Amino acid sequence: MTKKNSKYIKMRSLFCMLTLLMLAFVMTACSNSKETVKDDDGKIKVTTTIGMITDAVKQVGGEHVNVNGLMKSGVDPHLYKASQGDIKKLEQADIIFYNGLHLEGKMVEVFERMAKNKSTIAVSDDIDRSSLRSGDEMETEYDPHIWFDVKHWMKATETIRDSLIEYDPDHKEDYEENAKNYLNQLEELDKEVAEKIASIPEKGRVLVTAHDAFGYFGDAYGIKVMGLQGISTASEAGTKDLVDLRDFLVKNKIKAVFIESSVPRRSIDAVIQGAKEKGHNLEIGGELFSDAMGEEGTSEGTYVGMVRHNVNIIVQALK
Ligand code: ZN
Repeated sequence: MTKKNSKYIKMRSLFCMLTLLMLAFVMTACSNSKETVKDDDGKIKVTTTIGMITDAVKQVGGEHVNVNGLMKSGVDPHLYKASQGDIKKLEQADIIFYNGLHLEGKMVEVFERMAKNKSTIAVSDDIDRSSLRSGDEMETEYDPHIWFDVKHWMKATETIRDSLIEYDPDHKEDYEENAKNYLNQLEELDKEVAEKIASIPEKGRVLVTAHDAFGYFGDAYGIKVMGLQGISTASEAGTKDLVDLRDFLVKNKIKAVFIESSVPRRSIDAVIQGAKEKGHNLEIGGELFSDAMGEEGTSEGTYVGMVRHNVNIIVQALK
């Protein structure tokens, strides 16, 4: 055998081995995808949309769940479209949790499809519809930003708890215990927010933000809320809205307006410029987390930390 030939044979056997390896890999992958009950490590595979839900599922599910959140820090859920990778994560999940009320407006069909063969749960489902704010006539029937009223978010947490128990009754006690601890934290948070907002002089309690996400916050904690864009960021702010808002702010000598981490700031800048031309100095009070939380690993990357951050920024700027 020549040297060249032996090299060829070696390469060919190497190629055969690689093919076999790949085949083995594909076969394992296939058998894994059929195993829908639990992950290899025994944990339930959960796929979620916004960070606030991801956080709540981690809190309630604890060591029994592996949570895969699709929307990271700074991502706008109203405009979010599922990528091929996202579809895969949804298909592989045992349970899917999303907000619903048309928050994830571009993913409605995907959820409908997933719901045909697995638990696909909107965490807003158990909230009494009569306690919900109405939405934009065009975009949504209800205002989907329920996490801005901590009490609504407590209800969503209970929905997550009950769904995990239904799927995995063996760990019922753990889910109940975890949920109880988290709900206690949320109850404290709710009181804290109410107290802090009440410390702003009543005339100054006006919250102007880039889009109309804070309606529940305003209702629950007694602050007037005005957004430049509508309830969904899919609708643009009109010129008349900008002029009306500017006049209101100038007339009432409001000190600050706020930008949001998941929405471009151009409309807010236009209002500040407009007020300046009218001789009123408006400041940017700070950046609020509206539809997305802060970076993972930071305090603002949790629901409790995000709410606390928002309230502190608002109080500091308006007090
Ligand atoms: Zn929003």
